[in-house]
Amino acid sequence: MKISTLLQSGKITLSCEIFPPKPHVPLEQIEQVVAGIAATHPDFFSVTYGAGGSTSKRTVEIAADIQDTYHIPALAHLTCVAASRSQIDDTIAALHQRGIQNILALRGDMPQDESGTVSSDFQYAYQLIEEIKKQGDFCIGAACYPEGHVECGNKEKDIDHLKQKVESGCDFLTTQMFFDNNILYNFLYRTLSKGIRIPIIAGIMPVTNSKQIQRICQLSGTYLPARFKAIVERFADNPDAMKQAGIAYATEQIIDLIANGVRAIHLYTMNKPEIAEKIKQNLSDILRT
Ligand code: FAD
Repeated sequence: MKISTLLQSGKITLSCEIFPPKPHVPLEQIEQVVAGIAATHPDFFSVTYGAGGSTSKRTVEIAADIQDTYHIPALAHLTCVAASRSQIDDTIAALHQRGIQNILALRGDMPQDESGTVSSDFQYAYQLIEEIKKQGDFCIGAACYPEGHVECGNKEKDIDHLKQKVESGCDFLTTQMFFDNNILYNFLYRTLSKGIRIPIIAGIMPVTNSKQIQRICQLSGTYLPARFKAIVERFADNPDAMKQAGIAYATEQIIDLIANGVRAIHLYTMNKPEIAEKIKQNLSDILRT
C-alpha cells in the first residue's frame, strides 16, 4: 500500500523506524526486532539507509521481508550524496522488483573526511525525487526540519528548498525529531504559508539513553527544553528510569500533537520493540479517536 493512501484515509497513524545492522552482524538480529515491533501493528515500517549506502542491500532486503512476512507497508530510505545515477537506478529497480512502493528520498549527510566520495549526479534530495519519479510509480517521501536543517543558516531559505522537494513530486514529509511541540506548530504554520499542502508526519524520538541524545542533539542542533533536560540529567545514570521517563515524555508529546490535530506520528524506535509496545499501550484508546 502507498503511504500517501494511508495518510489520506483519515485514521491516526503510528509508524516505526528501524535501522539495518552493520554488514558483519547477522540479519537474524533485525528479524527479532521486526517481529517484536510488528506485533504492535504499526501502520508502516521505515527502514533507514546506512550513511554513504553502507547498508543499501540490507535496506531493500529488510523492507521486502517486512512486507512479505507481516503484510505491513515498508518505506525504504534511499540516500544519493555518495551514489552515481546508475547505482541509484539499480537500487530503485531492486526496490520495484521486491514490491516496495514507498521510498524516502534523502540527500544523506556529507562525508566528514576527504576519503568520502560525493556524487557528481546528485547534490540535493530534490534531484533524487526527480530521478525516482522518472523510474516508476512510487510514493515518495522526504525529510523536513522543524528547527531548520543544520547546514542552512536561514529558515526561510530552508523552507524554500523544502518547497522545491514538494514541487519535484514528493507526496509526504517526515520531520526530524523535536522535543518541544511548539516548534512543530510554528513550522507547520510556516509551511502552510509557503503553500506546502502535503501531509507532514511528526517524528518523535522516545529518549532512552542520555549519552546518545546529547550526541545526536550536538550534531543536529535540536533544542532541548528545560523540562526535558531535567529528565535527562536526573535519570542519566539509571537506564531503566531513563527509559520509563523517556517513554512517558514521548507519550505526552504525542497526546498533545493528536489533541492539536496532528494525525500522523513516526516513532524513532532505535530497534527497541519494547518502546513501540509501551507507547502503543499508552495510546491504545487515543489512536482510535
Ligand atoms: P536536502 O533536502 O537536499 O537538504 C540538504 C541541505 O541542502 C539543506 O540545508 C537544504 O536547505 C539545502 N538545499 C536543498 N536544496 C537546495 C538547493 N536547491 N540549493 C541550495 N541549498 C539547498 N540519513 C541517512 O544517511 N540515512 C537515512 O536513512 C536517513 N533517514 C532520515 C530520515 C528522516 C526523517 C530525516 C529527517 C533525516 C534522515 N537522514 C538520513 C539524515 C539526512 O540524510 C540528513 O539530514 C542530510 O544532511 C540532509 O538530507 P535531506 O534529504 O534533507 O537533504
